[in-house]
Order: sequence, then C-alpha cells, then structure tokens
Amino acid sequence: MLTLALSKGRIFEDTLPMLQRAGITVSGDPESTRKLILPTNRADVRVVLVRASDVPTYVRYGGADIGVAGLDVLREYFAGNGPDGLYLPVDLGIARCRLSVAVRADFDYAARVRQGARLRVATKYVHLASDHFASKGVHVDLVKLYGSMELAPLTGLADAIVDLVSTGGTLKANGLVEVEHIMDISARLIVNQAALKTRTAMLKPLIDQLRDAAALTQEPAV
Ligand code: ATP
Ligand code: MG
Repeated sequence: MLTLALSKGRIFEDTLPMLQRAGITVSGDPESTRKLILPTNRADVRVVLVRASDVPTYVRYGGADIGVAGLDVLREYFAGNGPDGLYLPVDLGIARCRLSVAVRADFDYAARVRQGARLRVATKYVHLASDHFASKGVHVDLVKLYGSMELAPLTGLADAIVDLVSTGGTLKANGLVEVEHIMDISARLIVNQAALKTRTAMLKPLIDQLRDAAALTQEPAV
C-alpha cells in the first residue's frame, strides 16, 4: 500500500487533477467527509488527510510514503528539523503564492527600519521570518501565531506580519500593504527517502507521472 499525505483545501484541490492525469481517482470529498483516510481507484494507493504543516512530519517518519506540501511549510520545517529523510523531486507548480512582509497602510516601514527601530512581527513562519530580518539587519521580536495574521497589525499586537500573499485581496480588505517580498512559493512533492529505496517499483512511476502532470498544469506565477 502506498500512502499519499495531502492537506485539505488548496493543496488537495490542486493535486486532484494531477493525480487524475496519473490515473488515480480519489474517492470522497475531504470537505464533507470526516474520514481521514480516503481510498482511491487503485487498491494499492490511499490518501491521508493531515494538517498542511504536518505533511513533512508524516512523510519523514513513514506515516506516509509521499506527500504534497508548500515550500513555505517545507522551508520552515527544514529550518527547525533539518532535511534528513526527505527527498523533494518535483516542483508541482500548484498553490502558488509568495511569502511577504506586510504592515498597516499608515505604518512607515522603511522609515522605522532606517531609524533602527525594533519591530514586533507576528507570523506562523518564525524561522523564515527570523532568517529574513537577520539577513537585512532588522531587529525584530517575533510573535508566533497560528492563523488570521492580518489581525495582528490592526489590533496593535504587532507592527508587521510575515504571511502568504496570492492576489493581495485579503491584505487590501484589511488595510494592509506588502512592503517586502521574501520568497516565491509553490507546492512540492516530498518523498520518504527510505521508501523510495525499498519500494522504487511503486514510487518511481508515480513520481514520474506527477512530474509529467506538473509540466502540463503549470499555473502562472503570482
Ligand atoms: P493549517 O490549516 O494547518 O494552519 P493552512 O491554513 O496554512 O494550514 P492552507 O491555507 O490550505 O493551510 O495552505 C496550505 C498551503 O497552500 C500553504 O502552505 C501554501 O503553500 C499554500 N497556500 C496558502 N495560501 C495560499 C494562497 N492564498 N494562494 C496560494 N497558495 C496558498
Ligand atoms: Mg490557511
């Protein structure tokens, strides 16, 4: 049995058509079922639904053989745990977005940085944010949040946030502006290295099929 780890939402929705191209149809809709294990049309392939940030952990420890995770999640995971045991063979080109610094429209970020002010920054990505500001020589106090980052500057919890942006619509709706682009993000295939060695005959064709599907379904960069 081959186990594929996916997270609900964007990753699941964007991965589904690529699996279709590889001849794999997933049974069940993650938004309506409470099941966490979904069978597929192939008796030897199943999907497990996990939190986006748990995908690397599942694949690393063999709870899944293969998975799909955003580069944001992967880089943050690697910064905390190292890349051991994981192989990233394919940029799927889906779930594209960018990691950015944003502030309230009335906050003069450039001036505060020039003054050498110490900024309070709220984010889910504490490692990536820490590396980014350290590389720019900006002094920050990081506040870890798990969601709704946009709220932090509006309530005075933080001066700035580090978060994912795609269209910018959510920032705009909350009176925030993007002031720095940290990195471009897309979802990657991640594979358990040990599984790839011991179960090459099963995993290799699937990786190749997903690579081909990715080449056909490139989303434009945002
Ligand atoms: P959790 O629910 O575990 O906190 P999450 O809210 O980050 O996770 P999603 O919002 O489904 O889960 O995001 C999963 C991945 O999809 C992210 O890690 C990122 O790579 C990508 N992603 C998130 N937001 C966007 C977006 N607005 N546009 C494109 N891709 C996105
Ligand atoms: Mg989300």
